[in-house]
Amino acid sequence: MRDLVILGTGPAGLTAALYAARANLRPLVVEGHEPGGQLTMTTTVENFPGFPDGILGPELMDNMRRQAERFGAEFRPGKAVGVDFSNPQVKKIFLDDGETLEARAVIISTGASARLLGLPREKELIGRGVSTCATCDGFFFTGKKVAVVGGGDSAMEEALFLTRYAAEVTVIHRRDQLRASKIMQERARSHPKIRFIWNTVVEELLGEEHLTGVRLRNVKTGEVSELAIDGLFIAIGHEPNTGFLKGQVELLENGYIKTTQNVFTNVPGVFACGDVQDFRYRQAITAAGTGAMAAMEAERYLEGSMTHDWSVR
Ligand code: NAP
Repeated sequence: MRDLVILGTGPAGLTAALYAARANLRPLVVEGHEPGGQLTMTTTVENFPGFPDGILGPELMDNMRRQAERFGAEFRPGKAVGVDFSNPQVKKIFLDDGETLEARAVIISTGASARLLGLPREKELIGRGVSTCATCDGFFFTGKKVAVVGGGDSAMEEALFLTRYAAEVTVIHRRDQLRASKIMQERARSHPKIRFIWNTVVEELLGEEHLTGVRLRNVKTGEVSELAIDGLFIAIGHEPNTGFLKGQVELLENGYIKTTQNVFTNVPGVFACGDVQDFRYRQAITAAGTGAMAAMEAERYLEGSMTHDWSVR
């Protein structure tokens, strides 16, 4: 049995692994379905402190992994498909390759995945004009034309953020009413750089090496048109990777793990960090921050000096 198993290798999991390894907990880290997490899908990361010239997302994640390995963190491929936390002394994790891991403490950092439209070549064009994160990639579209898909708060937030850089921001929404809160709607609707295309879906991504435009279809009239753009930001929500935890760890209505004091779940010895419990900030640096917290609390739990009241929800 392990002292500590960490699930997921995004910034949260890898930072937890580094801290836990330096505390001599020899954590076993399960890589997950997308080793390295969402940052492996981006190009340059310019807002992770410590890299004044920016760093490529995959390189940053590789550095974090090697740093954790240097102190004794062990990695194995695979993803968790189920858990059994009914025995407080022996927490079980069932993996997709059929193996069962046992641990005294567990850190869940399985992240969230941005919902995509499901169009051909969509994944291939991520980092080449298609993005799921304006905060990460907006800067690259300075003076260019971009579009945002979605009608929720995220879409409005992305559109407003993009006005700082882009010459023109078009919001493409499948209905004629926004789901976003009134205040966000008003901000977006009154912004001179933002225009809306209603009742419309993206049917095709155009361009070979890089996105050059989108083919649109009006769902009411059936009319097909083309829009020339340099960037398409998909903001149709995120799905937390918590399906394997059902009935074992308390989740919020939106599917994210419910935590108190940042990283405590309702199960003693089980901690959560990063996007799997944070649907507000969703940044690499905030995920890394909660990863450090989770490892420090796991260490306290394992040495029996935990002072947290698990009954406080
Ligand atoms: P959301 O509220 O679920 O909105 C998703 C939007 O994407 C909806 O407008 C939906 O259209 C559209 N959509 C979904 N699937 C689509 C598809 N396949 N094709 C085209 N459009 C699709 O998600 P969110 O905007 O990410 O927000 C999630 C939560 O975080 C919300 O509770 C939100 O209030 C909160 N949030 C708050 C803030 C803030 O307060 N500043 C910022 C971001 C997020 P329909 O409307 O037709 O369903």
